[in-house]
Amino acid sequence: MTTVNRVFNFSAGPAVLPLPVLEQIQSELVALPGVGMSVLEISHRSKTFEAILAKAEADIRSLANVPSNYKVLFLQGGASLQFSMVPMNLLGQGQTADYIDCGSWAEKALKEAKKVGTVNVAASTKGENYSRLPKQSELTLTPGAAYVHVTTNNTIEGTEYSTLPQVGDVPLVADASSDIFSGPVDVSKFGLIYAGAQKNIGPAGVTLVIAREDLVAKSAGNKALPTMLNYSVHAENTSLYNTPPAFGIYAMGLVIKWLLDLGGLPAIAEINKRKAAKLYAEIDRTGFFRGTANKDDRSLMNVTFRLGSEELESKFVKEATAAGLDGLKGHRSVGGMRASIYNAFPEAGIDALVSFMQEFERKNG
Ligand SMILES: *Cc1c(COP(=O)(O)O)cnc(C)c1O
Repeated sequence: MTTVNRVFNFSAGPAVLPLPVLEQIQSELVALPGVGMSVLEISHRSKTFEAILAKAEADIRSLANVPSNYKVLFLQGGASLQFSMVPMNLLGQGQTADYIDCGSWAEKALKEAKKVGTVNVAASTKGENYSRLPKQSELTLTPGAAYVHVTTNNTIEGTEYSTLPQVGDVPLVADASSDIFSGPVDVSKFGLIYAGAQKNIGPAGVTLVIAREDLVAKSAGNKALPTMLNYSVHAENTSLYNTPPAFGIYAMGLVIKWLLDLGGLPAIAEINKRKAAKLYAEIDRTGFFRGTANKDDRSLMNVTFRLGSEELESKFVKEATAAGLDGLKGHRSVGGMRASIYNAFPEAGIDALVSFMQEFERKNG
């Protein structure tokens, strides 16, 4: 049992990890049971590590019902490298990729894609500070596009898709960094899903990519593509082309196992819905706090809200931090407050924040 005091960590990422996972890492860090070496020390070519990798993949496949014609890859470079790898692998000469510009990360993704090939911005809500998601009727999709890119949860602005955009037969590519495995997912609806682990499924340093085989195959034999940026190389080598982020894969495996033990994605979805509902109810209760995202598009993962003045917001964040509610300052590009309440964020922390908000309003309202 951990005896150190832990604060409630509302950070957007790297973010809170499940306590049982941290405790298991702690207990196994010096020597993996029966191995006598740390996961930080073992060869990535050892039987022990191969088993850790295989188990992480098998558990991901079982957790998300990943169809057998999809590859599961453990890569490096964060979600940000996927902004480049996706077009470098999937956007062929003479093709167009459609990008839905629904948030600051989406904009970064499309900026990188433009360096690689032809990009059509299918819709943008940038003019509205990305406070809402583009509607289906607003999308201008390119017939026969190489893919459509969407950010399923906009971490900075606090919006999240509850229904995926309809893109017909064109592969849907999703940056799911901040809501992956927060609820049931139909992987077969996607061509490729990617996520930096450090928000919802592990520590920084490993990026999960789940990609349909025909899309992975597009870069097979592409000699112009740097080897390390080629999906098919990583797939052919089961993420062991070079030294993989071994610790990150091990830790992600433990988080996935924790999700499975909890009852899988339907179970975590219920918890996430309950947590977010409590917080939004408090935000909406009197008008003292103001949610910044369009109500229909509100994220269950990143809850963004503001107060009447920036002075009051600074005071709120300062006093909350002192009360053990850490990381509530909004992203520097939007200001205000943001409570990131990913899978591992405990419900007790929501209750503590709601009490703090009520007390703060009593004193300052
Ligand atoms: C955090 C985040 C990123 C950037 O992730 P890195 O792993 O730091 O590159 C990209 N997209 C979304 C939606 C994010 O939340």
